[in-house]
Amino acid sequence: MTAEPVFDVAIAGGGIVGAACALACAQRGLKVALVERDVLGSGATAAGMGHVVVMDDSEAQFALTRYSQELWQKLAAQLPASCEYEQRGTLWIAADAEEMDAADRKNAWYAARSVPCDVLTAAQLRKAEPNLAPGLVGALLVSEDAVVYPPTVALELARRAQALGAQLVLGKTVQQIADGSLVLDDETRIRAERIIVALGADSVSLRPGLPIRKRKGHLVITDRYPGFVNHQLVELGYLKSAHSVSSDSVAFNVQPRQTGQLLIGSSRQFGADSAEVNQPILSAMLARARLYLPGVARLSAIRVWTGFRAATPDKLPLIGPDAHDPKLWLATGHEGLGITTSLATAELIADMLSNQRPAIAPGPYLPARYAQPKSSSQHLKNEANHEVDWSHAGTDHGIR
Ligand SMILES: Cc1cc2nc3c(=O)[nH]c(=O)nc-3n(C[C@H](O)[C@H](O)[C@H](O)COP(=O)(O)OP(=O)(O)OC[C@H]3O[C@@H](n4cnc5c(N)ncnc54)[C@H](O)[C@@H]3O)c2cc1C
Repeated sequence: MTAEPVFDVAIAGGGIVGAACALACAQRGLKVALVERDVLGSGATAAGMGHVVVMDDSEAQFALTRYSQELWQKLAAQLPASCEYEQRGTLWIAADAEEMDAADRKNAWYAARSVPCDVLTAAQLRKAEPNLAPGLVGALLVSEDAVVYPPTVALELARRAQALGAQLVLGKTVQQIADGSLVLDDETRIRAERIIVALGADSVSLRPGLPIRKRKGHLVITDRYPGFVNHQLVELGYLKSAHSVSSDSVAFNVQPRQTGQLLIGSSRQFGADSAEVNQPILSAMLARARLYLPGVARLSAIRVWTGFRAATPDKLPLIGPDAHDPKLWLATGHEGLGITTSLATAELIADMLSNQRPAIAPGPYLPARYAQPKSSSQHLKNEANHEVDWSHAGTDHGIR
């Protein structure tokens, strides 16, 4: 019989969330294993936009995004250039008076919570972003929002964890979680005091009862056009059609990359589990981009891809112990904000695991909020979603 190592924490999934958890746990002296079936940062982390954005859909969402943004600001100085952290700021663009009212409300809400922001008039917006379409009425500038390149960040966090003693187990698939162990496809067992599920949209493959649905997104990247846009640009129009869960949706959301490329998004679809590019969705997304940035029509796109967000019904992630199995912890369900909130998620998990007081209250993110009596939870079928109310999962991050 071979002696199996016993870790304090074994993490399934080496996306940005799993990698951040590995580092935060290793920094607290915990013995960590991190298992990734593919390349570190290759799942939604590689497919995402890398907008580090403070959000205001709820106080809990704000607390997590703002805390995480502050952690990003501290980390930024230590990140290698390949992580491409830049504090570009977000311009939330108003196309009419109703949206301008929304910008004013957002401004007041953020100002009351000490988030630096400014309302821009139409003329100021035009000066800040000369390539925007004429006729837009103004914008809200949230200046501490940033842009990163998520896959290199995931790699960097995992390497730092490794330097502190974490074991990286790459190219192995977790097939089962059983008796405090991760059972891998080569039949190895990784035993640990606590298991953390950080499998993003794939979390339901190992924990089928979780209230998580895959939400597909498309992104386009252009050739290099330095200075074409200067900020992350997002339309405020999504507020009018908030909470649409049944229909496919697109929104204007454009990001300047350090390379001079533009990342053009974005789309949202439930019930679309194939990774194929959907031509009508792509056309609708690009039409929306042309509406706000007419010059986009002259740019060359070099690649299109899709990815899957892990959506929960209340738009908040699942962070903390599983309601029925205290050895099992969850760090998943981050939908369109997992790059932003990865660092805060990891701090919450590591603080709770090491009995330290977290910097923000963990209550709103605890999986226990979806707890049902054990017998009925087995009926919480993810595919049918009959027992879970999805009516509030409609928006995040600028999506109509
Ligand atoms: C189009 C799009 C745009 C987005 N834009 C933004 C944005 O601008 N800002 C933002 O904050 N968020 C954004 N997001 C969301 C963000 O990308 C995700 O929330 C985040 O990447 C989730 O990270 P994760 O580590 O939880 O999941 P993932 O990155 O998916 O990592 C899970 C990992 O688990 C591995 N895995 C799966 N199954 C197994 C198994 N059985 N065994 C071992 N390993 C396994 C996978 O290979 C993967 O590497 C966007 C997402 C999409 C799709």
